[in-house]
Amino acid sequence: MKAKEQILSLKAYQPGKPIEEVKRELGLTSVTKLASNENPFGCASAVKDAVMDELNSVSIYPDGYASEIRSKLADYLNVQPQQILFGNGSDEVVEMFCRTYLSPESNTVMAAPTFPQYKHNSVIEGAEIIEVPLTEEGKHDLDKMYEAIDRNTKIVWICSPNNPTGTIVRERELVSFLEKVPSDVIVACDEAYKEYVVADDYPDTLALQREFPNLIVFRTFSKAFGLASLRIGYGVAHEDLIKIVDPVREPFNTSRVAQRAAITALDHLGFIEMCRERNREGMEQYEAFCQNYDLSFYPSQGNFILIDFKKKQGDEVFNYLLKNGYIVRSGNALGFPTSVRITVGSKEQNEGIIQCLSHWLDKETVS
Ligand code: PMP
Repeated sequence: MKAKEQILSLKAYQPGKPIEEVKRELGLTSVTKLASNENPFGCASAVKDAVMDELNSVSIYPDGYASEIRSKLADYLNVQPQQILFGNGSDEVVEMFCRTYLSPESNTVMAAPTFPQYKHNSVIEGAEIIEVPLTEEGKHDLDKMYEAIDRNTKIVWICSPNNPTGTIVRERELVSFLEKVPSDVIVACDEAYKEYVVADDYPDTLALQREFPNLIVFRTFSKAFGLASLRIGYGVAHEDLIKIVDPVREPFNTSRVAQRAAITALDHLGFIEMCRERNREGMEQYEAFCQNYDLSFYPSQGNFILIDFKKKQGDEVFNYLLKNGYIVRSGNALGFPTSVRITVGSKEQNEGIIQCLSHWLDKETVS
């Protein structure tokens, strides 16, 4: 039995090591995971109560159209309810757009390195992948991405903040890109980390959609809202586009619990503000550490930082931290072999990891 050719080259997603497994393998009692850009502060406490309450109804299918969260989110975003497509995480929204628009006759343009699911889903659809290297500053090279577009291009991906560099595409840059891109090419802006951004010139993509109907925006409740395990994300686009993609969606793709949690999360936006502030303070802890040890890093607007250890391999730094009870992400698999990506944690978690790394680096300077 032969599978489709393009599937044979694919590897299943490699998740970060689970905490329990690391504890067991290394005989550690306390392990901190800062590897998957999850929210170290959990979620708003009212969300937990709502989830508990919703458990009384788990035997009933969810509302497939997600009407209540749809209208709540539409108000929050100031868009029409018909402009939203919910997914089982924004991962699924990426998948649905690829399924709808890509085929072996088409190509798709993306940065490299960037979030791997754009490529993964595009490969599954058999599309040609055109990867455009990031600039030296770890940013999308929009000029080269524009040059890469041809008449077979269906989707151009922009990840902002970009995973794993944390860099953003600025308003001015995005607008001049959109002005040039042909209107029948979809520009997909993945804003999974939007709630953490503090830069003044971060584009208001939802406002730009009025002028550029080929611009689509992906966001998620997994990060700042702290609902990663419940799997709920969404795309916002012109309603004609959503109408085309919606039949691709599985009938009950977001659960009752996820919908209820997201509704409640939108009633507690103070939590998001707190997370944004704490994240910025945490980012400053890491930036100060990098400056102390002359390590380079990309200025990140997300909740993670990619640090280059130059003389060390990312895997070596990863293994050292693992032995000391910290799970981070080696840059090796992310296209940055001498770096690690660390999720910004709580102040104490950041202090712990920084102390651990400082101890190691100090020892090496002395010996
Ligand atoms: N986009 C980016 C840039 C991400 O980093 C992630 C998660 N790591 C996602 C999308 C997917 O998030 P989710 O499916 O949990 O919404």
